[in-house]
Amino acid sequence: MSDIYIRVIPDDPQWQPTAEAAERTVEYAAGLFAGPGDHVELVKPVFYDRIMLIDAGQYMEDVFCPRCDAALGLDWFWDMLREESGGLTVDPTIGDLDVTLPCCGCLLTPPELGFEAPIGFARFEVSAMN
Ligand SMILES: [Zn+2]
Repeated sequence: MSDIYIRVIPDDPQWQPTAEAAERTVEYAAGLFAGPGDHVELVKPVFYDRIMLIDAGQYMEDVFCPRCDAALGLDWFWDMLREESGGLTVDPTIGDLDVTLPCCGCLLTPPELGFEAPIGFARFEVSAMN
């Protein structure tokens, strides 16, 4: 059986808390799973040097243009992230948030794209496992 994660990220993809604030956030998140019958194996803060894709794992199905509703496809999305990350990678990161879309040529940032499953972009997350 695979592990299940709840990943909490800030609204601003660039923002990172202080180490002390991150620990308080972990304590708060762990407290959400501390009731009778509740259980979580691990809650931890994770800091990233660059903006990281916080993906939906197997639930990621397609990417859409919010301007013209065109389906952009996951192949385009992964190719764009590989280019942003400087090559093949298992942990896609983003340095420059501007992306020109192939459908209508508009300039957007990855967080502005439409996704079927909830995903995000962040340099910090609180990860709760199982
Ligand atoms: Zn478009």
